[in-house]
Amino acid sequence: MSQYFKNVFSGVYTVLIGMRETWKHLFRPATTIRYPHARVELPAGTRMQLFNNVDDCIGCLKCARICPVDCIYIDTVKAKPTEDLGKASTGNPIRQHVVRFDIDMFKCCYCDLCTTVCPTECLYMTDKYESTVYERSNGIFHFSKYEPALAAKMLAEQAAEEAAAAAARAAKAAAAPPKPKPAAAAEPATH
Ligand code: SF4
Ligand code: SF4
Repeated sequence: MSQYFKNVFSGVYTVLIGMRETWKHLFRPATTIRYPHARVELPAGTRMQLFNNVDDCIGCLKCARICPVDCIYIDTVKAKPTEDLGKASTGNPIRQHVVRFDIDMFKCCYCDLCTTVCPTECLYMTDKYESTVYERSNGIFHFSKYEPALAAKMLAEQAAEEAAAAAARAAKAAAAPPKPKPAAAAEPATH
């Protein structure tokens, strides 16, 4: 019988020890929130979803070049001499059409390097962190205002123009008369 009471005492004691932390927190204010109905305020400098205000993007490629995981994809088409694309809000002249500006946020490691090199500060981190998607392809964010078909057409035209210019340069070089060889230096007279 005494063993019976020992077991009861041991059980109650074990439960009380186990509940000690629970009791400690029972009368303290809650540290959790009812997300998504309530949200915590994120600290300044939080690195979340990237955004490009593409109207100010000059297509300099600095962000893509510094990205350690190569997750920024940019295609540009040079403006024609007769075109005036204006200036970014920082005053930087815009000399090319940014026909593609995609960021694969599934590859991004949120290092923030791309935003620090952007000369027009058009690329920045937002406080948006709810970017869950059902399809892998939806993790690639598109910022260019050019439709893909139009972008492809403009890139093809630019490639054709560059190829024609290269061919013209090669033809001109081939047609040019060979440069005369410099005369050999006269040998010193011997006695
Ligand atoms: S935050 Fe870092 S990894 Fe992400 S796009 Fe910018 S440079 Fe690349
Ligand atoms: S660094 Fe800035 S301006 Fe240059 S391509 Fe990237 S987002 Fe555009």
